[in-house]
Amino acid sequence: MAAQLIDGKAIANEIRTELTEQVAEFIENNAVVPCLAAVLVGEDPASEVYVRNKQRACERVGIEGRLHRLPADATDDDLLDIVAQLNQDNTVHGILVQLPLPKQLSETRILDAIHPLKDVDAFHPENVGLLSQGRPRYLPCTPHGVMQLLHRSGIEATGKHAVIVGRSDIVGKPMAMLLAARDSNCGPQAANATVTLCHSRSQDMASLTRQADILVAAVGIANFIQADMVKPGAAVIDVGINRTDEGLVGDVAFDPVSAVAGHITPVPGGVGPLTVTMLLHNTLTAAGLQLHSA
Ligand code: NDP
Repeated sequence: MAAQLIDGKAIANEIRTELTEQVAEFIENNAVVPCLAAVLVGEDPASEVYVRNKQRACERVGIEGRLHRLPADATDDDLLDIVAQLNQDNTVHGILVQLPLPKQLSETRILDAIHPLKDVDAFHPENVGLLSQGRPRYLPCTPHGVMQLLHRSGIEATGKHAVIVGRSDIVGKPMAMLLAARDSNCGPQAANATVTLCHSRSQDMASLTRQADILVAAVGIANFIQADMVKPGAAVIDVGINRTDEGLVGDVAFDPVSAVAGHITPVPGGVGPLTVTMLLHNTLTAAGLQLHSA
C-alpha cells in the first residue's frame, strides 16, 4: 500500500481529549453541564447503534446525554411536542433527531422546529444560511470532521482542486462550502480550495475525479471510486458507509485505490469517529452560546 492511512480513530481521540478538558473547564467556570438530547423514533438497528455511540461519546467527554424514544408509528405532532419541550428546557443545549425518520413523518418540518441555537447537527435553514455566508454558528458534523482529518494530517487545501462526489444537504453541499470558503476554523490554509461538486447527472465522472488533489466520496455506493478514477498522490476521503455481505464498506475501493493515492481514510475508522466528535464539539459550543443568550 503506497498511501498513508489517515487514522480517524486516533484523530478523533486527540480531539476528544481536548474536548474533555474544555468541557471540564466550562463546567467549572459556569456550573452548567452541557447536555445533548437525542430523539429516536422506532427501533431501526443502525439508528440504535448510532444513538448509543453518541450517548457513550457524550459521557466520555463529560457532556450529559439524554435519550427520548418514540414508537415507530409516532406522528409529526408527537415529535413536534417533544422538540417543543426540549426547545423550552434550559438544561438541554443540543437537540439531535436521529435520521432517517419513519416514512410518515415530515423530516423537514421536524428539523425546522428545532431552535437554531440547539441545532447541533447544523441542519436548520438559519444555520445553513450563516454557513453559506461565511459566518457559521455550527459546522455540520461530517464535513467538519473531514476538515479536521485533512488539517490534522498536514494536508492543506488552499489552491488545490477538491472534487466532491455527492451533493446531499448533510455531506456533499456543506463540504463544498467549507473547502471553498475563504477561511476555516482550522485556518485559511485548510480552506480556499477550487471545488468541483459532482452528482448522479455529472458526465464522465472519472475525468473529473482524476483532477482531484483532494477527493471526497459521499455517494452511498460501495466501492464506487476505483483506482483509475484517482490521481496519483491524491488525498482520498471516504465518507460512505455501506452495509454489504462483506460487512461495512466505504464508497472507495480501498485496496486498489490505496496503491495510487497519497493519503486515504479507512471504513470503518475514518470519517465516522469524527462525525460523532464534531457533534460533541457543537454541543459544547451550544452550551456556551445559550449561557450568553440566557
Ligand atoms: P445521499 O443519498 O443523500 O446523497 C448521495 C449523493 O450521491 C447524491 O448527491 C447523489 O446524486 C450522488 N450519487 C448517487 N449516485 C451517483 C452516481 N452514480 N454518480 C455520481 N453521484 C451519485 O447520501 P448522503 O450524502 O447522506 O450519504 C452519502 C454516504 O455517506 C452514505 O453511504 C452515508 O451512509 C454516508 N454517511 C456517512 C457519515 C459518516 O459519519 N461517515 C455521515 C453521513 C453519511 P443526486 O443528488 O444527483 O441524486
